Amino acid sequence: MKITRISIYQVDLPMKEGSYSWSTQSFSAFDSTVVAIETDEGITGYGETCPLGPSYLAAYAEGARTGIAKIAPDMIGQDPTELDSINDRMDLLLKGHPYVKSAIDMACWDIFGKMTGLPVYALLGGKRQEQVKLFKVISRTDPDVMAARVGEYRELGFSQFQMKVGEDPTTDIERFQKVAAAMQPGEVMDADANTGWAQHDAIRVVDAVRSLGSDHKISLYIEQPCLSYEECLNVRQHTHLPMILDECMESLSVLLRGYNDRAMDLINLKINRMGGLTRARQVRDLCISLGIVMTIEDSWGGEIATSAISHLAQSTPEKFHFQSSAFHDYHTLAIADGGPTVNGGFMQASPAPGLGIEPDMGVLGNPVFTT
Ligand code: MG
Repeated sequence: MKITRISIYQVDLPMKEGSYSWSTQSFSAFDSTVVAIETDEGITGYGETCPLGPSYLAAYAEGARTGIAKIAPDMIGQDPTELDSINDRMDLLLKGHPYVKSAIDMACWDIFGKMTGLPVYALLGGKRQEQVKLFKVISRTDPDVMAARVGEYRELGFSQFQMKVGEDPTTDIERFQKVAAAMQPGEVMDADANTGWAQHDAIRVVDAVRSLGSDHKISLYIEQPCLSYEECLNVRQHTHLPMILDECMESLSVLLRGYNDRAMDLINLKINRMGGLTRARQVRDLCISLGIVMTIEDSWGGEIATSAISHLAQSTPEKFHFQSSAFHDYHTLAIADGGPTVNGGFMQASPAPGLGIEPDMGVLGNPVFTT
């Protein structure tokens, strides 16, 4: 099989709640990029990459499209089902920029699944859990509003919440206290600062919330308190709460460093930060071998990226899967049919071949680039 054409589409994903806020940032919509890869056997695969704005990671939407357009002409003629060769070729054509490569890699997995007649989770190791546990993001806002959201989201079926903090530490301590008070026994709250705290502020916050959840009726976690790995490691040494590292876990080598330093209990594995499903699977499998539990998600995306999340999560043993995010459930606009079915606090990947999605070309419109 050979790649015959690569097209790029741009789409804005507006938020149901009007905005999405974390750390010091806030957006009403996210700029997403969809890739369609056509082949000489009539199979077309789709991938998606959606940086969370231009200053969340070293990634931005226009950069995704420029990068894909840069390498796409030299991917024509390659066999999309030879995933390792596809990734080697992308690395040869463009150094770094994993979020650019992620959409192409994802589309190639979609093609591989369609060619074999198997869902991607079967190709990633088989269905290891029947459904994928979700968390609901409590976007950063007034502490009382955030506490009220716990009850609203519980009504929707969620028992795991990710509270966005990382702004002013005094207000963040209030967020912790009010949200924790609104939680019920057995519920899980992951306080994600998204790199937003200075080290001394993070230490102040984790010290102030020390007694919250000490009766062990609710589970509290701290996620990526500061920008650098070293700062997070220092904060880790000042808290008894389980630590999740996210933004700084950008390669296998930093994962191994974190393992050796006992820097974290869990990681947040984002597909496009690793460069696609091929590389994310390597990290996933190593984490299982090392005993590191994972949040499995992406930086953001619609039905296509969320489908890739669901396939990677569904093929991960439940014991090592902490939670995932159903991003398409946060939008007012659907870009594809066949995305993961969401049922309360869980989702399931489509059992259809490939990623199981069919893009709505009316929504995607005309390609912004084609080879
Ligand atoms: Mg995070």
